Amino acid sequence: MCIFCKIIAHDIPCHQVYEDEEVLAFLDIKPVNPGHILVMPKKHYQNIDDISEDDFIAVMLVVKKMGKLLKEKLGVVGYNVTENNDPISGQIVPHLHFHVIPRHAGDGHVQWPQSEYGPGEVEEILKKLKS
Ligand code: AMP
Ligand code: ZN
Repeated sequence: MCIFCKIIAHDIPCHQVYEDEEVLAFLDIKPVNPGHILVMPKKHYQNIDDISEDDFIAVMLVVKKMGKLLKEKLGVVGYNVTENNDPISGQIVPHLHFHVIPRHAGDGHVQWPQSEYGPGEVEEILKKLKS
């Protein structure tokens, strides 16, 4: 059983923020900023590829709810929603979860570096994506 399944089964404690039939949300133990929330389906899916459409919708509705909660209750002005899909992207816990991360001016949170397309590369990518 994965660590988040153990939390969902109440075998391991968490700082729960929200729960319904399909979804659990609790505070990340090592927050980027205070109030950093993890939102996940109660059923174990490793990633977005695996999750059912119904559970995905249920999770995303809670992500929206949590963002609103951060703004209303913690006075957060904006937030990031991220999900690391598979280990290559930085996923450490193999149970699909969305990070809802409060942001503050000058909090030092660095986003990903950006690059440029080489000659013809964007057309090649689009061709593959649309084939
Ligand atoms: P990810 O890299 O997307 O898999 O992120 C996993 C997140 O889970 C990290 O931000 C961890 O701090 C968080 N985490 C791991 N174990 C726990 C736990 N027992 N309670 C709360 N958050 C946790
Ligand atoms: Zn799990």
